[in-house]
Amino acid sequence: MPYSGKKATKYNILNYMLNHGDTSKVELAKQLNLSMPTVLTNVNELIETGLVTEKGELESTGGRKAVLIGLKSDYRYALGIDITANHLGIVLLNLCGEILEQKRVRMKFDADLSYYEKLAEELKKIYEPRIDADKILGVGISLPGIINQAEKLLVKSHALHLENYSLKMIGQILAMPVYYENDANAAMLAENPQKLKNSVYLSLNNTLGGAVCIDGALFTGQNRRAGEFGHMILVPDGKKCYCGKYGCADAYCAASVLTQGGKNRLEEFMESIQTDVKTKEVWEEYLANLAILISNLRMSYDTDIILGGEVGGYLQDYMVELGRKIFKYNLFDDDLSYLKNCSYRKEASAVGVAKQFFWKVMETI
Ligand SMILES: [Zn+2]
Repeated sequence: MPYSGKKATKYNILNYMLNHGDTSKVELAKQLNLSMPTVLTNVNELIETGLVTEKGELESTGGRKAVLIGLKSDYRYALGIDITANHLGIVLLNLCGEILEQKRVRMKFDADLSYYEKLAEELKKIYEPRIDADKILGVGISLPGIINQAEKLLVKSHALHLENYSLKMIGQILAMPVYYENDANAAMLAENPQKLKNSVYLSLNNTLGGAVCIDGALFTGQNRRAGEFGHMILVPDGKKCYCGKYGCADAYCAASVLTQGGKNRLEEFMESIQTDVKTKEVWEEYLANLAILISNLRMSYDTDIILGGEVGGYLQDYMVELGRKIFKYNLFDDDLSYLKNCSYRKEASAVGVAKQFFWKVMETI
């Protein structure tokens, strides 16, 4: 916590609202261990700044109705971009973390000026019709690779075929504050780590990523490579992975396994599971491999595991089947309550990087 005294109280209140959404004064007093008069004074001062607002009454079970309070959604906004080898995902978020606009554009990555100019155009299209640029706190950019944030450097990205690549040019072209993060870490950040405390995020996209959150903060490891679950060996001497090794989890559990390397759409694959025998077989095998990966992660971390990414969004309909397969490998757990479905089924990485700017809002108090 960067503040002390009264500033710290306000910071804690805003932080609670960012993590948990709308709340009440009674809940704030209880959760933050504050007296009611302290909560009242601070909330009133925050309402005066325009950051916090009253949002109607809560349903009550008798007695006086509590007033719902929360962050004022149109106080500030943030943009998020997820750069992948073949697509751009873009979101516009309000201060409450709600997606106001989102789009996915097919755009092949190219480490060239014209690519970034096109990216800037796409970004403008999403906010210019409705939001003043000076209300936008910044642009978060998620990338499939290892990032050195201090140096603004993409240390390595197999997916984009880059090594030690400077990201400074993007910031200059966008002419807004820019924040960079690895795609899987970004997806974890969309889940509000302070609320989660400890958990592991499994990002099942065309490449398989992961992130680890310990005590409310991202755990990035000695070389910022923590959570690279995609390159753990699942099958010795197995299928070839895009990284060059054989048998990596990515070659068995990435979304691309289901879409023949991205040639088909995942949506179509999922729709034909019930009608097409061959598709059903591929899906069963996929779940069997995913079960091994999940039980290995549960053994390693003993925390909740969030199933995210494109496939993660579909898994909630298959939890029973997946669970049956996991139980074969895990004799410690007798239920699967540690498996969680992700909060943002689409564009989680873009949402996570955009959200980082909202923590900056608290610096204005
Ligand atoms: Zn690999």
